[in-house]
Amino acid sequence: MAQQPSGLGLSELPLGVQIHKDPLTGQNLIQKGDLIFPPRKVWMKTFGCQMNYHDSERILSHLKELNFDQTEELEAADLVLFNTCAVRDLANQKFYSQLGEIKHAKKKKNGLVVGVGGCVAQTEGKELVEKYKHLDFAFGPDTIDMINDMVYRTYAGDHKFTINSWDRSENFSIETKITHGSPQAFVNIIKGCNKYCTYCIVPYTRGKERSRRKDEIVQDVKRLVEYQGIQEVMLLGQNVNSFGQENGETLAELIHDLDQINGLELLRYTTSHPYDVSDELIAIHGTAKKLAPHLHLPVQSGSGTVLQRMHREYTPEHYLGLLEKLRKVAPQIVISTDIIVGFVNETEEEFQDTLKLLDAAQFDFIYSYAYSERKKTRAAKMEDFLTDEIRMERLRYLQAYQLKIQEKIRASMVDQTFRVLIDGHGNMGGVKKYKGRTTCGRLIHFLPPEPEKDYQWHWADLKVTSASALSAQGVLVRDLGRRP
Ligand code: SF4
Repeated sequence: MAQQPSGLGLSELPLGVQIHKDPLTGQNLIQKGDLIFPPRKVWMKTFGCQMNYHDSERILSHLKELNFDQTEELEAADLVLFNTCAVRDLANQKFYSQLGEIKHAKKKKNGLVVGVGGCVAQTEGKELVEKYKHLDFAFGPDTIDMINDMVYRTYAGDHKFTINSWDRSENFSIETKITHGSPQAFVNIIKGCNKYCTYCIVPYTRGKERSRRKDEIVQDVKRLVEYQGIQEVMLLGQNVNSFGQENGETLAELIHDLDQINGLELLRYTTSHPYDVSDELIAIHGTAKKLAPHLHLPVQSGSGTVLQRMHREYTPEHYLGLLEKLRKVAPQIVISTDIIVGFVNETEEEFQDTLKLLDAAQFDFIYSYAYSERKKTRAAKMEDFLTDEIRMERLRYLQAYQLKIQEKIRASMVDQTFRVLIDGHGNMGGVKKYKGRTTCGRLIHFLPPEPEKDYQWHWADLKVTSASALSAQGVLVRDLGRRP
């Protein structure tokens, strides 16, 4: 007899799905259409950006409806999924190597199902399915909400298919799904990108920008805070600054409304594009109480001519002007950035301009990469005379240069007290230490005063005793427990 979905973590059953109790084992069995799904395991490997990690969480949450629980052990898996990234070459190489290795797991385990999702699957899904005999299906990032139908198809006997269609519906409407027990949640507010930076594959893999409605997001976050214990929210999108354009809404308005939610402690957003940082958004950094005093604002290069070749639509001067305005309204704000070193035909002078920008901007930290060509982008069609040796040499130089800047900035943390959310612990030189991030995104380690006590997901005030370019050591001043 069909039962209520107790114990499966499902608040309501999707259409056409029923739960039965196995009279022999007492296990819950899920019936979808003609098929019965006993409890099974899914092993998932995610590459790339926060958006991909968020998508993976969403996929895992859907799969619970088909009785799949996540496993960290490949040998225990009935379903293996990869969520791929086409942006970074390294992630791409790792994915191909792991996909190749999975064929041995498939030989060992009869009935193992293998799927590939994400940006690589969007652009190369058909070729992947043809080339890798052990791959059952591929799916693009815009089809993740159809994952259960795809898994159903494979268990119904259909294999070797690709689904990389675009979601054509007018509105982008979802409910955030989380599978973890932490008080932090990613909330997707916009998908796709209209910018077409010449080096980037994202507009081709994730399509045009589409935003959720502001009210839907506010209700979504209220629900997460009230019923799922969420205290910190990261608003996500490829370019969150252009949120709401098609609906006459703005990111600043959204932040203003979220700032009013009782029980929400911290709000962050990423990724930003400098072209779309409005005065209204800058102003909200001075007034919203829950907005983190941190902004990750990718500049990519300090050279105006390189920015033009990248089609970034701003100049270094405009970028520095934004930082000045931000620091005026929010003097404590910490700024971080992304830099691509050695873009097509970058001259020594252009590279030096980036070093000058590092001096002027005083970033708290940077993510830096050597340019690598991505197939099907406009930059890939540009004739390029720069060698990989020069790229790597410049990257090393830039990273060492920035570390010196960071060291000086971070030295000022000493003797200051910071509020952190403790998010883990580890073994440092044989000693158990906890770690937390400040609201401005800096890492601080500390020795627990009560070694047996569990500090995970507590809020705490930590006083910094020493600081290096990348992290800091501190002492616990106040343990605020799970609610600050
Ligand atoms: S803004 Fe540029 S770099 Fe960022 S996702 Fe869009 S095209 Fe890619």
